[in-house]
Amino acid sequence: MSDCLLCNAWSDHFATATILSKYDVDYFRCRDCGFIQTEAPYWLDEAYDQAIVSTDVGLISRNERFAKTTDRLLRIVLPGAKRCLDYGGGYGMFTRMMRDRGHRFEHHDPYCQNLFAAGFNANVDSDVRFDFLTAFEVMEHLENPHQELQTFDCLADNWLVSTELLPDHPPLPNDWWYYVLDGGQHISLWSKRALRIVAEMYDRHLISYRGLHLLTREKMRPTVVRYLMRNKFAGICDLIRRRKPLLGEDFRQAVAETKAAAQTVSV
Ligand SMILES: [Zn+2]
Ligand SMILES: [Zn+2]
Repeated sequence: MSDCLLCNAWSDHFATATILSKYDVDYFRCRDCGFIQTEAPYWLDEAYDQAIVSTDVGLISRNERFAKTTDRLLRIVLPGAKRCLDYGGGYGMFTRMMRDRGHRFEHHDPYCQNLFAAGFNANVDSDVRFDFLTAFEVMEHLENPHQELQTFDCLADNWLVSTELLPDHPPLPNDWWYYVLDGGQHISLWSKRALRIVAEMYDRHLISYRGLHLLTREKMRPTVVRYLMRNKFAGICDLIRRRKPLLGEDFRQAVAETKAAAQTVSV
């Protein structure tokens, strides 16, 4: 028995499974919201030895899908969003892809080297606010969900997060890939109800489509948002309100920074 990290209700023992091929770990499931959490994760240092696990073969295709959807959402339902943050942005690929599409994204990820969007590291400790925040494949890694959610809350009004939701009859760890037992990083598994609780607690409107969840301050039209998230026929929207790519501007900035760095070295 344990307390639900999200809503504080009782969490019953749900399963035991072997992670990283060596630790037997207990999983608890909240009676009220269905959120599944592991016992206090003492193995994380080992699990994050490599920030991005080698079995994550979906990394590129996920970025492609998320970039398309985010681009459309920003142009069509959140055209006022100018300054954006990719929280937990990994190698910086998504930030680069969004800047290529004309959206002013910055990157934040203390656990991973920013390879593709160097020069666009956000300073999240200052009072800077963003109009929009993305956090892809972050939610299921949270050790203390409210700590991060409060950070999201301070950083931006509108969030787009991704995480696969538990089916209504939650599968056991060995029966569902999303527990990623050999990676050991997925310590929080979200139910539909758990996400609704987040929306309520943080005063946002939630619209989900499969693994993508948009949480906004203002109410959005679910049919439009889901249409855009579905990606299927939404290509038709790709000509509307296109933004000018930031490639030229970013290139000039990179050249200027490189020159400045060379000068400091030679002085
Ligand atoms: Zn709960
Ligand atoms: Zn993950």
